[in-house]
Amino acid sequence: MDDCIIIGAGPAGLTAAIYLARFYLKVRLFDCGTSRAALIPRTHNHAGYPDGITGTDLLDRMRRQAARFGAVREERRVTALAREDGHFRIETERESFAARSVLLATGVFNRHPPGMDDTLHDEALARGLLRYCPICDGYEVTDKRVGVIGTGDHGTREALFLRGYTADVTLVAPDVDHELDEECQAELAEAGIETHDGPCGEYRIEGDRLAVETADGWLQFDSVYPALGSHIRSELAVNLGAEATEEGCLTVDDHLETTVPGLFAAGDVVLGLDQISHAMGQAGVAATTIRNHLAQERPLRR
Ligand SMILES: Cc1cc2nc3c(=O)[nH]c(=O)nc-3n(C[C@H](O)[C@H](O)[C@H](O)COP(=O)(O)OP(=O)(O)OC[C@H]3O[C@@H](n4cnc5c(N)ncnc54)[C@H](O)[C@@H]3O)c2cc1C
Repeated sequence: MDDCIIIGAGPAGLTAAIYLARFYLKVRLFDCGTSRAALIPRTHNHAGYPDGITGTDLLDRMRRQAARFGAVREERRVTALAREDGHFRIETERESFAARSVLLATGVFNRHPPGMDDTLHDEALARGLLRYCPICDGYEVTDKRVGVIGTGDHGTREALFLRGYTADVTLVAPDVDHELDEECQAELAEAGIETHDGPCGEYRIEGDRLAVETADGWLQFDSVYPALGSHIRSELAVNLGAEATEEGCLTVDDHLETTVPGLFAAGDVVLGLDQISHAMGQAGVAATTIRNHLAQERPLRR
């Protein structure tokens, strides 16, 4: 029986693994290799790296740090979680495991621009022509020509946020027509943000720009931000009865415990700021709480 099984080895899961292994707990770390952090061409807002660091380099450093204390990432997709005689049963594609506690750090998946093929998507992302996180990298588009694919409140909020970096922001509807109420329209107009109807569906890279087809023809941008929401990878917990928001973000208490006792969550899968620093902070709190709960069940002594 493991003390804790961590599902997901992004910044949240890896931070928890480092803490738990250093608490001398028996921990396993399952991951299926789709961390959002791996998509970061170079982060400039993560403290401690004045010249920035690529997402893959950061993950590699964290993996090595966890492994140094005995928590080695195992390539396994977890398919189900169950409660059984006071512990958890963790099903993977090949085997099943038992643990006294579980930390879910499975993150989210950003919805891609409609109709964009994967090769173009990945090239545009690597070159900063496509971006997903204005909080992370809005600074990098200062005074650039920026497109936002989205509509409604969400699209409006994202466009207004980016207006803090550049005067040249355009909001393009993903489908045929924009769905903007009067308040959104007024706010966009007041901020000088252009709107164009879609549908988006055709894209091409033209030199250092990403071109997007709209109802009004092709528009070229230095960077495009899809504001199309995310799929929250919380199904394992929700299927076990954990409470979540309508969108799927897990509800947790101040110590990151979900509404299922012994099941913790950290990082993007929890409602909050989707940032590395936040994921790491939550993981530290969750791991320490897990340690203290386990110590109440049986003393942890050297
Ligand atoms: C393009 C881009 C740029 C970004 N730039 C920045 C930035 O500059 N600064 C910043 O702070 N943040 C940035 N972010 C956000 C940052 O990447 C996330 O906030 C962070 O990765 C969240 O960490 P996490 O551990 O919660 O989830 P993730 O990093 O997404 O890791 C989740 C892990 O869980 C695994 N998993 C999921 N389901 C299962 C399962 N069933 N079984 C096993 N494993 C599973 C996945 O394979 C994945 O490895 C950026 C995001 C993107 C997409």
